[in-house]
Amino acid sequence: MKIIIYNEDVLQNLPAHKKAYANGIHNELKSIFEAEHEVTTVTLATINEGLSREELDKADVLIWWGHIAHDKVPDEINAYVCKRVSEGMGAIFLHSAHFSKPFTTLCGTPCSLRWREANEAERVWTTDPFHPIAQGVEQGFRLDHEEMYGEHFYIPTPDAVVFTGWFEGGEVFRSGCCFHKGEGRYFYFQPGHETFPIYKDKNVRRILRNAVDWVAKKGPETSDFVGNKDCLHPIKPPEKFKRNRFFYKEKETE
Ligand code: ZN
Repeated sequence: MKIIIYNEDVLQNLPAHKKAYANGIHNELKSIFEAEHEVTTVTLATINEGLSREELDKADVLIWWGHIAHDKVPDEINAYVCKRVSEGMGAIFLHSAHFSKPFTTLCGTPCSLRWREANEAERVWTTDPFHPIAQGVEQGFRLDHEEMYGEHFYIPTPDAVVFTGWFEGGEVFRSGCCFHKGEGRYFYFQPGHETFPIYKDKNVRRILRNAVDWVAKKGPETSDFVGNKDCLHPIKPPEKFKRNRFFYKEKETE
């Protein structure tokens, strides 16, 4: 697969960011996928070449991290990214990319949320253990420090909420949300504040590898339910789930 990772990369001089990611977020993300996939990285400085129509036409998946330079992304690039997603290119939006041009355009809502920077711990609960993105992820895994993102998250109702984050301050947040647009799929994942080494966490890396595989597929969800062996309380899909017409391909036999 061909993956493009976009990171605006304009925070390199922030000491806490440098400490968390000496080589930038894009290179940390690249290390998750490069053994299996062809990965290129793009920053705001190289956006015109890196996210040209030609490059986007070749991409299977685009991963997006942005924070303070959303407005610097050219409108033409945003429009073409959204067109490619509706044609079937997968996209993953990370953390503060909730306010990025392509995410807000695809969602069609303000994508606003509540937030607080207080170095709080987050626990990431799997709320859809049968979803492909949840496979192999430890139920309720803990991130020692993360920026709090809280509800209400002003997005369209997701097609699946695979993860829900809980923060020490008591807030909760839909941390892993799946969406469809035309032929394409996109996924929003909340953890990933620039001053914490979140993308080095093994569960986060597993989620992102799963997410790349999921968004790269076209069209609606067709996979059968599968149990998540790593759930805190392992469970098999009950019979009633197997009859769920949205998720189970086989005919009812009853
Ligand atoms: Zn942040």
